[in-house]
Amino acid sequence: MSGRELSERGGPKSPSERRFATKLLHFGGEIDAVTGASSVPIHQASTFHHHDIYNPPAFDYSRSGNPTRAAVESAIALLEGGTRGFAFASGMAAISSALLLLSAGDHIIVTEDVYGGTYRLLTTILTRMNIETTFVDMTDLDAVRAALKPNTAAVFMETPSNPTLKITDVAAVAAWAKERGLLTMVDNTFMTPYHQRPLELGVDIVLHSATKFLGGHSDVLAGLAVTKDEALGKRLYALQNGLGAVLAPQEGWLLLRGMKTLQARMEQSERSARRLAEWLAARGDIARVYYPGLPEHPGRDVHERQSLGYGAVVSFDVGSGERAKRVLSRVQLPLVAVSLGAVESILSYPAMMSHAAMPPEVRAERGIGDGLLRYSVGLEHVDDLLEDLEQALGGADS
Ligand SMILES: *Cc1c(COP(=O)(O)O)cnc(C)c1O
Repeated sequence: MSGRELSERGGPKSPSERRFATKLLHFGGEIDAVTGASSVPIHQASTFHHHDIYNPPAFDYSRSGNPTRAAVESAIALLEGGTRGFAFASGMAAISSALLLLSAGDHIIVTEDVYGGTYRLLTTILTRMNIETTFVDMTDLDAVRAALKPNTAAVFMETPSNPTLKITDVAAVAAWAKERGLLTMVDNTFMTPYHQRPLELGVDIVLHSATKFLGGHSDVLAGLAVTKDEALGKRLYALQNGLGAVLAPQEGWLLLRGMKTLQARMEQSERSARRLAEWLAARGDIARVYYPGLPEHPGRDVHERQSLGYGAVVSFDVGSGERAKRVLSRVQLPLVAVSLGAVESILSYPAMMSHAAMPPEVRAERGIGDGLLRYSVGLEHVDDLLEDLEQALGGADS
């Protein structure tokens, strides 16, 4: 704001010229233009007065636009390197609105171990609109190519995938899709723009469940979308306004508050997640550990090319459903719950929680067995988390 930092041109730097940590706090809309207030006001209004009937105000009705929501939208657009951001009532509201860019008769290629809610949307709701999906192992470019049909319109990626953290080569898939005129989308919830910016890899739309790391405190449900192409941004805006699943101003304010500390939270959680993953991998009694930061992770090289970090989610298979349930009943620190990406650690059980909507045989095929647990590492001291998990894993047969 003050222009104390000079850009290469000699003038004040614009928000996009600054580093990520600074962008989180100084995205351009952080100070109230009218009063100078240190945080964006919660504009709890559904409609806006037309002072001059011939010159409609910038905001006229809150479904179409609200100043608090607009602040969130400009923040996420800046962080993802896009031109336009969109805030929705939930991650699924963002994903379903974006998927309605498709029309009846279209076909979409989707990461096979996609978020359970996205799977449900594609297989039980969009099927009724005659939009068909092929789920593929997106880590295998040949499998992606083989899924192409004459009516394929889009490719939907999630990387690292959920919950087995498989890595898709985003730039390779996006380049292939672009040659064929397919729209590409990435669910970037697990990485956040701090670690991974899909628009820079050639993707058309970035999607988030901001309920997770971006909000970061398990106290707000929100979804975000970002586009770079202006025409595509207009089409997505028409869907946001037309479908109306918008983010409310109170939720927008909470989300903005959470986003300010994204980098500080991600850095600490990731450091602890790496410790946790290494600790689990070194034990003899864990069937498998899934974490892109482990040297044996098959997608590690691709991940390191396209991401600046490994994230804070570690999945591991304790061998059986009985043992997984025992761990869940014994842990003292993590919340045993669905969701992830919060200040507090969250331990979830995909088979009975996030992926319960997936038929057991499909789950098994995708590596989401009954022994699989997903640990989202929060900000507790990592030694306390390890000691707690140690006691929960111990006495396997008691
Ligand atoms: C939670 C989640 C969603 C859905 O977001 P909601 O805010 O719960 O609607 C979508 N994708 C991923 C990867 C998620 O973790």
